[in-house]
Amino acid sequence: MEIPPILRYGCAMQTVSAALMPIPGHIDPVPVPRGVQPRPDGRVDLIGLTKDQLREALLSGGMELKQAKLRSKQIWHWLYNRGATRFADMTDIAKAQHPWLEERFVIGRPEVVEAQVSNDGTRKWLLRSADGQDYEMVFIPDADRGTLCVSSQVGCTLNCRFCHTGTMRLVRNLTAGEIVGQVMLARDSLGEWPSQPEGRMLTNIVMMGMGEPLYNFDAVRDALKLVMDGDGLALSKRRITLSTSGVVPMMARAGAEIGVNLAVSLHAVTKDVRDELVPLNKKYGIEELLQACADYPGANNARRITFEYVMLKDKNDSDADAHELVRLLRHYDLPAKVNLIPFNPWPGADYECSTPERIRRFSDIVFEGGISAPVRTPRGRDIDAACGQLKTAAEKKSRAQLDREAEEKFAALG
Ligand code: SF4
Repeated sequence: MEIPPILRYGCAMQTVSAALMPIPGHIDPVPVPRGVQPRPDGRVDLIGLTKDQLREALLSGGMELKQAKLRSKQIWHWLYNRGATRFADMTDIAKAQHPWLEERFVIGRPEVVEAQVSNDGTRKWLLRSADGQDYEMVFIPDADRGTLCVSSQVGCTLNCRFCHTGTMRLVRNLTAGEIVGQVMLARDSLGEWPSQPEGRMLTNIVMMGMGEPLYNFDAVRDALKLVMDGDGLALSKRRITLSTSGVVPMMARAGAEIGVNLAVSLHAVTKDVRDELVPLNKKYGIEELLQACADYPGANNARRITFEYVMLKDKNDSDADAHELVRLLRHYDLPAKVNLIPFNPWPGADYECSTPERIRRFSDIVFEGGISAPVRTPRGRDIDAACGQLKTAAEKKSRAQLDREAEEKFAALG
């Protein structure tokens, strides 16, 4: 699994006055799953519900059991296989029942606040939830694949020093519906309904946008199960990667309950430097993290674990760092691949990107150690590519300007 470099570094943004969830502590919030929440108008968004939850929702609206079983199957197919956004389009459901459904339920999509398209085809969206929270999503097309980078939280608690999102506090976890809704919106935009096994532009998903997915475990798991369901969006787990900064206690569960590819934000090979770059390291150190990787269910040479390593000048990019990286990965006998990511600075960042020569040398050393270490090509540099920049830029524009640009750019996306 190759991970495009645009995806993480400075994932995003957002300062909002009132936190919606209490987060006790600085770097170790309790992940609080939110149950099915009606919208302010009392209607329930069906996107994000499991098949069972969908049937329950119909039952609790007053539909009788036999009918609810049938209708939930039909509606689920329309939502996830056909991409329907209106009950009126569900032609095998009696017209007389459409108003009943519309009164009680909605088929949600995130609101598009802004959309950008890069010269290299990279697309980036600033999205808004029904309660007004903003988050980002990026689509990166390549010759043989198209990768969607999906956010799991609004903001982040982890304060990684090279990441723009790390400068923002966590507002709340995204719901399963808001997570899977990103994939559905991308499918809308790419014209990829109904779901089909071949010929898609959107072939891969990385949970690598805003937030730490393992601090929102239940919602991420539920959303990815919807994404993987063969009757619906039908993406193989081999085409999905979950990226963590190293929430060690949740990694085994992620392997067992989700089973997708794993990527780890490593970024340093010594305690001091990793403590600085990824403060979560103070809680779960490098050795503990690498042992959890070695224990990750399903990792083997065909499904290697990706170690992300952002290249920061004079910080983590020496020959000694490269040799130590090889030593560590070999010591834990990890089926590993290293992604070397040229740092994409954002205003106020404390670091600079390593020189191209230094990055090449680092890569050579790791390759010579028998571990693949490609240098990722920066993407979308002509748009506000590093996550968070789009949001920051958007805050400086007027509402009317944003609306106009979003309409024009979305129309251009076809
Ligand atoms: S976990 Fe670190 S890299 Fe990821 S969004 Fe949070 S601060 Fe950024």
